[in-house]
Amino acid sequence: MSTDTFDSLGLSAEILRAVADRGYTKPTPIQAQAIPVVLEGHDIMGGAQTGTGKTAGFTLPLLERLSGKKLYRGQRPVRALILTPTRELAAQVGESIDTYGKHLHLKSTVIFGGVSINPQIMKLKKGVDIVVSTPGRLLDHVNQKTIDLSQVEILVLDEADRMLDMGFIHDVRKILKLLPSKRQNLLFSATFSNEIKKFADSLLNSPVLVEVARRNTASEQVEQLIHPVDRVNKSKLLSHLIISERWKQVLVFTRTKHGANRLSQHLEKDGITSAAIHGNKSQNARTQALANFKNGNVRVLVATDIAARGLDIDQLPHVVNFELPSVPEDYVHRIGRTGRAGCEGEAMSLVCIDEHKLLKDIERLIKRKLPQKVIPGFEPNPSIKAEPIQKRRGGGRPGGKPSDSSKSSYPKKGSGSRGKNFSSKPGKGQSNRRGSSQGFRRRAK
Ligand code: AMP
Repeated sequence: MSTDTFDSLGLSAEILRAVADRGYTKPTPIQAQAIPVVLEGHDIMGGAQTGTGKTAGFTLPLLERLSGKKLYRGQRPVRALILTPTRELAAQVGESIDTYGKHLHLKSTVIFGGVSINPQIMKLKKGVDIVVSTPGRLLDHVNQKTIDLSQVEILVLDEADRMLDMGFIHDVRKILKLLPSKRQNLLFSATFSNEIKKFADSLLNSPVLVEVARRNTASEQVEQLIHPVDRVNKSKLLSHLIISERWKQVLVFTRTKHGANRLSQHLEKDGITSAAIHGNKSQNARTQALANFKNGNVRVLVATDIAARGLDIDQLPHVVNFELPSVPEDYVHRIGRTGRAGCEGEAMSLVCIDEHKLLKDIERLIKRKLPQKVIPGFEPNPSIKAEPIQKRRGGGRPGGKPSDSSKSSYPKKGSGSRGKNFSSKPGKGQSNRRGSSQGFRRRAK
């Protein structure tokens, strides 16, 4: 099968037209692998993170399958359910459905917490084919009996690893119980811990494994650099870099919500327009901050890891780790925000003495030593001693319910890497065969 164009994948003319309107000419590897498999009706275990084109990878064939024969009478039932861990990701998936489904007659809606439930109820009452939702708000609708999930044919779990990390497993299990047992399941995850694999085992039916190389192995497009600096000089260094390098659009990561606010205020004092985005901000404030960042009114967006999940900002040129993440996999997610879809990007990390161990963990994960460059005037003082880092991620639970950081902040030790069981590439002739221990069938690239 040629995977050079979308035409050979089995999609209808209406969908191909929408893809062409969007300007895509060539499917990404995950799209080339996933689309035919979904069209054949198989379950999928997808190993891909944001930035790989996975959203179109499941949205396009899902639309194709739903746009076939109309098998119902009267009001349209919900036939596809897409669950995402965050509101931002839900909104983005909803936008993709609108984009790719614009020449079809399907109706979709996005539902998440933090905004009034009534407009969502109205929309559901009118009948929709596709619902994109975060788990918490979906259960609110279930409890209020404003949604019927008994006719769902396709279930997508997007960023399933995050869903588990954020403590949504119970909500997701409750939702699964409401779906018909005969359905197609598509699960996407950037990492494959034992917990995810166990969950996938209980959910998927002879899934085909589709995977693309981890971003960190495919991240040559992202130039990565460490700037050693003292803890107290980090904000000054950041302002200096932004001003001297004339960066126009920078996404900056902090570990905590409080840190994000403080840094944003510091930047503003230095005359650099900035906004913070994290779980304590209202949905409106977050949407507004993102819009201002995208349209260039705000030069710097300061975000916590969870709030930044799923942000789709095309061609982001600069990502700065103001603080290194405590979970090494988050580093890969963070730098995945730049150098996307063929564009080059730069990822800089400001690293103080307290973070040397975190840096080592990251370098071990990505299997390379990152180059270091001391900026003149910001040389670290060798007499400063390391201090312990506060072990808490500050992103909250943007999907809805109040945060429970003790449970959701950190994946259990050893649970974060997909390495052992999932990183091996399919060998020649392994295409679409059942994998050995997991019951997955692998699709060769
Ligand atoms: P995703 O991984 O789904 O978040 O997509 C990452 C980015 O790649 C988004 O900005 C998409 O609009 C873009 N994209 C998805 N598919 C393609 C494609 N086939 N060609 C070019 N860009 C794409």
